[in-house]
Amino acid sequence: MADKKRILVTSALPYANGPLHLGHLAGAYLTADLYVRYKRLVGDDVVYICGSDEHGVPITIAAEKEGVSPQDIVDRYHEMNKKVFEDFGISFDYYGRTSSKMHHETSQEIFLKLHGKSFFKKKTEQQLYDAKFNMFLPDRYVKGTCPNCGYTEAYGDQCENCGASLSPTELINPVSALSGEVPELKETEHWYMPLGEIQPKLEQWLNTREGWKANVMGQVKSWLNDGLSDRAATRDLSWGVPVPLDEAKGKVLYVWFDAPIGYISATKEWAIENGNPDAWKNYWQDEETELYHFIGKDNIVFHCIMFPIVLMEHGDYVLPKNVPANEFLNLEGKKLSTSRGWAVWLHEYLEDFEPDLLRYALGSTLPENKDSDFSWKDFQARVNNELAAVLGNFVNRSLTFTDKFADGKVPELINPSKIDSGALQAIIDQKEKVTTAYEAFRFKEAIAESINLARVGNKYFTETEPWKTRNENPQACNNTLHVSLQICAALSVLMEPVLPSSMKKLRDQLGIASEINWNTISDSMLTSNTKVDVGEVLFNKVENSEIDKQIQKLEERAAANNPASKFPELKDNIEFGDFMKLDLRAGEILSAEKIEKSDKLLKLQVDLGIEKRIIVSGIAKHVEMDSLKGQKVCVVANLAPKKLMGVESQGMILMAEDSEGNLKFAETTAEPGSPIT
Ligand SMILES: [Zn+2]
Repeated sequence: MADKKRILVTSALPYANGPLHLGHLAGAYLTADLYVRYKRLVGDDVVYICGSDEHGVPITIAAEKEGVSPQDIVDRYHEMNKKVFEDFGISFDYYGRTSSKMHHETSQEIFLKLHGKSFFKKKTEQQLYDAKFNMFLPDRYVKGTCPNCGYTEAYGDQCENCGASLSPTELINPVSALSGEVPELKETEHWYMPLGEIQPKLEQWLNTREGWKANVMGQVKSWLNDGLSDRAATRDLSWGVPVPLDEAKGKVLYVWFDAPIGYISATKEWAIENGNPDAWKNYWQDEETELYHFIGKDNIVFHCIMFPIVLMEHGDYVLPKNVPANEFLNLEGKKLSTSRGWAVWLHEYLEDFEPDLLRYALGSTLPENKDSDFSWKDFQARVNNELAAVLGNFVNRSLTFTDKFADGKVPELINPSKIDSGALQAIIDQKEKVTTAYEAFRFKEAIAESINLARVGNKYFTETEPWKTRNENPQACNNTLHVSLQICAALSVLMEPVLPSSMKKLRDQLGIASEINWNTISDSMLTSNTKVDVGEVLFNKVENSEIDKQIQKLEERAAANNPASKFPELKDNIEFGDFMKLDLRAGEILSAEKIEKSDKLLKLQVDLGIEKRIIVSGIAKHVEMDSLKGQKVCVVANLAPKKLMGVESQGMILMAEDSEGNLKFAETTAEPGSPIT
């Protein structure tokens, strides 16, 4: 066996400002957990760290929306998210939080060390300020139009439409998220990281990285090609890690400066909890450690550029060996969106299904190299056609047959046929393929090659026909059951990373002790005469009605979040000058008569103050003839005259149309002739 490696794995710290959904799981957590579980089985020394990101504008905005304190928000969602991760079997060694004392101290220490090395550039700059709330407007406190793609709902730190990273002053038509007003510019001081100056050193380091995914390195290269610029490490906010300088009162560290440091502070807390407070140093300060950051693609710049620069310039820390970031997961063909209610919340999923089912379905469609799609129909197909029909069925037929025809014990293998040996060899071959895939961060492939062993098993079982041989050639039947049970045993470890709770059940059925490792996967895991237990079926099929219920729930929530408007969409903007070309006047109807042969048109005489006009209007069905005399109206007075049913109309009366097509007068109390502007 190769030397035991020391491995530190981190998953992006989720903001503690809301519940977690499918996209989170697919991005940074399921993949890391697959890797960690695999590495633990291999026997490496693995520590897996995560925690809540409790700082930053997303937290304070969530608090303001609910009218509670930021502390209330983070306390609630920290506990909720920690629990949902546990329920899904995400096997963190420690789940910290960035509001902890340890984290504040660690972040401040790192800031001060860099400050002592004159890393930061102090700059005075104009920044957006909300005078009504007496507050600078960093990041998401400003919304406006993206200078890159024209999306009108872009945030001050990022455009969610095109993915561009922005600064608040770059937004076109910025508006404060607090007051809704146009912010003013005001001078403030901040400490900037001179990323551009370190770029050559960073590039040198990046050139030494091996095995990085093309989607990750591609994004990094594109940032580098554009050239890195200074990035502020501080913010004018009251919630966060205070900047540890006397001259920086009232300022906190930028959330993306302190959040990745959360990995370090959580490792320190883990070490204390395990009774060896210095143990964290082995993982962060020993060159032999392999550090892996699992993240979604929106965090690539922070983990491949900013945080490595901080660690590099600090000097005491190891840098990541790889950052196997995932792309985005879509849902039913559409972009996931919490604000539009287009999401599957993990805690809600657990009310209806087992966690293993989602681990498998999601693991099989991970957005590893490009965006991918989760659909409930695909979920159902994965569960029914793969977990139940392939894996569950193979295990069940093997155990049931053994129970009925071999006294519930693993029969001896005597004089195996070529086909028996071939099936046993498949255990070794598939283990090899799965190992290679895990080592290369190809998790979809690892899962597919794992379940392929159950496919081999099913095919073998069918071909050897134990239901026939049990009468004709009992030893052949015994051999089939022996080989099948060995395959089941191998599967119970091979599929442990993706199906931890079902494979534990399977091992119980097979009488496999709890201590397992990757090396135990072999063609002879079970000794003959071991008692096995049929137990429950591992996977039940998901019914159409259960899937319909989920799809309906999703659509109802989306509808509730986006009430379809009964009014038509607004037209494109026009210039003020175009509007001023219209001559709108107050008027009063003097008389009305029906136009022959038309059931819609009325001939109206209108007093426009300066003159009287004849106007033909298609309102006959919407008004009472008797009530028209004396009706105050708004008139387009400079519309070119037009003949309708032989009568020349000298203007147009403005009407408002409701959603049912009913017309009502746009009234005015002004004296006839008054211009309307
Ligand atoms: Zn954009």
